Amino acid sequence: MQIARYLYKCKEYYGIIQSEKIVCLPDLAKNYETNIPSTIEDFIKSETAEEIASRLLEEMTSSELDVFSIPIRKTKLLTPITSPPKILCLGLNYASHVNETKEKRPEQPVVFMKPNTTIIGPNDKIIKRFFVKQLDYEAELAVVVGRQAKDITISEANSYVFGYTILNDVSARDFQFKGSQWTPGKSFDTFAPIGPCITTSKQLSNVNNLGVKTWVNGELRQEGNTRDMIFGVSEIIYHLSRIMTLKPCDIIATGTPSGVGMAMQPQKWLNSGDNVKIEIEGIGILNNTIEER
Ligand code: MG
Repeated sequence: MQIARYLYKCKEYYGIIQSEKIVCLPDLAKNYETNIPSTIEDFIKSETAEEIASRLLEEMTSSELDVFSIPIRKTKLLTPITSPPKILCLGLNYASHVNETKEKRPEQPVVFMKPNTTIIGPNDKIIKRFFVKQLDYEAELAVVVGRQAKDITISEANSYVFGYTILNDVSARDFQFKGSQWTPGKSFDTFAPIGPCITTSKQLSNVNNLGVKTWVNGELRQEGNTRDMIFGVSEIIYHLSRIMTLKPCDIIATGTPSGVGMAMQPQKWLNSGDNVKIEIEGIGILNNTIEER
């Protein structure tokens, strides 16, 4: 199941993607006099909503599909989650990226956080402040936590995942490496485009084998696969949940493969007007353009 938030005629909705259309889930449920959470966050937190939604979609007739859905192209897709309790990010989690940055392969996950004010949606502008000179992209598979998790074992970790989305871990390298902490360079407003939807973990069973690609202005820059992650999703949840309680709707970005602008010879930085397109198999495409202010 692929769930998206969207704007249609100035109103916000969430629904399920069915090829080129989105079915407005709360409206469909109302038609069947069935209760379904009114927000995507409550849908994620609910123990039963996914099952109810699957049943409704199965029962839906083709004429109901026409009534309760609209073509995706007529909507504006929004970030699936606006205010996650936390955005956690893994650094240096692909061997190819560790090599290109000439860093040491980490023995423990490298973890940092981004504030919620970094979040934007598909097709929103990434704002490059005029004083940032080294703007870069990082395509990442992002976990959406479904249940509160503390001290979770590797084998039970998967049952705490609601689904997956794409996060572009936009980075101002000139601020990332200014001090000992990466936070400044990772935390400018708009530095976490997220979307275009959440694919539920039930649908994305092969999360350890997904192609990850990035194009800048149509030029292929990153071409990796989640199978090359140093710490896989279950291990990440194990490590993080030993430290902190994971909450429903937390987002965990799992690191980026090689091909970032910083590692190119010569280095290539993002500038105003540049377009960054990220595709992850089974999830979709996240597209954003840079605007200097
Ligand atoms: Mg990153």
